Amino acid sequence: MIRLFLKPGREASVSRRHPWVFSGAVASREGDGSDGRAEVLDSAGNSMALGAYSPHSQIVARLWSFDGRAPDVDLFRERFAAARRLRFEVLPAETTGYRAVNSEGDRCPGVLVDVFGEVAVIELLTEGTERWREDLELAAREIFTPGRLVVRQTGAERDRGSKVSARSEDFTPVPFLENGLRFIADVSSGQKTGFYLDQRENRARLRSLAGGKSVLDLFSYSGAFSISGLAGGARRAVDVDSSDAALSLAGEHRRVNGFPVEAADFVRADVFEDLRRRAAAREVWDIVVCDPPAFAKKRGDLSRAARGYQDVNRLAMSLVAPGGWLLTCSCSGLLSSDLFQKIVFSASLEAGRPFALVARRGAGADHPVSLDCPEGEYLKGFWLVRQG
Ligand code: SAH
Repeated sequence: MIRLFLKPGREASVSRRHPWVFSGAVASREGDGSDGRAEVLDSAGNSMALGAYSPHSQIVARLWSFDGRAPDVDLFRERFAAARRLRFEVLPAETTGYRAVNSEGDRCPGVLVDVFGEVAVIELLTEGTERWREDLELAAREIFTPGRLVVRQTGAERDRGSKVSARSEDFTPVPFLENGLRFIADVSSGQKTGFYLDQRENRARLRSLAGGKSVLDLFSYSGAFSISGLAGGARRAVDVDSSDAALSLAGEHRRVNGFPVEAADFVRADVFEDLRRRAAAREVWDIVVCDPPAFAKKRGDLSRAARGYQDVNRLAMSLVAPGGWLLTCSCSGLLSSDLFQKIVFSASLEAGRPFALVARRGAGADHPVSLDCPEGEYLKGFWLVRQG
């Protein structure tokens, strides 16, 4: 275990239980962190917290306990069991795909567990939690009892700031249910851990208002919004994405849910170009869903990202029928909900269309956000209705 002594005056965030220690707050280090464990001490040498050590990250430690408890297999079991209990309380019926452990939100900084039916995927997001792999795996097997446990280690890549590579060597399509609908997660080569579980509640809302309507699903990935719309009685749904693999999974999703598969409903294109073409053709849609990837991954990207969100929203708004809906999302944690609202407002001015904000939604209840670490909140989903 390594001991990290904080600089005088840099203790406040740890004493407020914030789980991140930035390398700039550390005055000196003592010992060996090769077991991934760090003890954080104030400048007078009093122990404050214990956590996972990531020497190459700006966040040099992520804290798991503030009461002297060692981060060991017992603590992992306890935290996983608490996370599992919460899921029992909040998950809807006929839902076997969910986020079972949400990093800081479940007091397990640097660990995600997603469950897809019989398979659990544990993702180790930091170098520190990668070092704890064996004990974390053991605890995950005990608490979640999956038929198969897939481990994704992305910590070292993230710490180096490199793009997390998709591994494609063992593609296994894993079936699961979301609100009774059938989906397939591509757990090894897919994006994230195979499926965008965070949008479940927005998909349920879409389903409840889609009856008889047309749905344009922009940045569709595997078309989960479209499937939810069709399940709610939409008369047509079109997926637009730049990835062939995502669109072929989207076709498979229609098939397994008993909807017809028409080639014209899957458009491989850059959404910006596709939208310009549709706007020029004066297309009209009852519901447009716009769920792009994070345009801002670091602070320096923010102004360019803001322009991107404004452009895509202006174009999407121009396609919405009077009285129709735009569900517009941003999963950039760096972009606040207020700033996103301003961007969307500017887009509506540019589009010359009045919209009202009917609901602001985030990730589902299986993505808790710790009050100690508000940075865990990232997804914004605004339900906008066109007025006039
Ligand atoms: N709405 C999806 C998740 C979207 S993830 C769901 O609920 O499952 C973002 C998607 O945008 C990815 O599938 C990615 O392939 C796609 N993408 C990224 N940039 C794009 C672009 N410029 N044009 C079209 N698709 C893009």
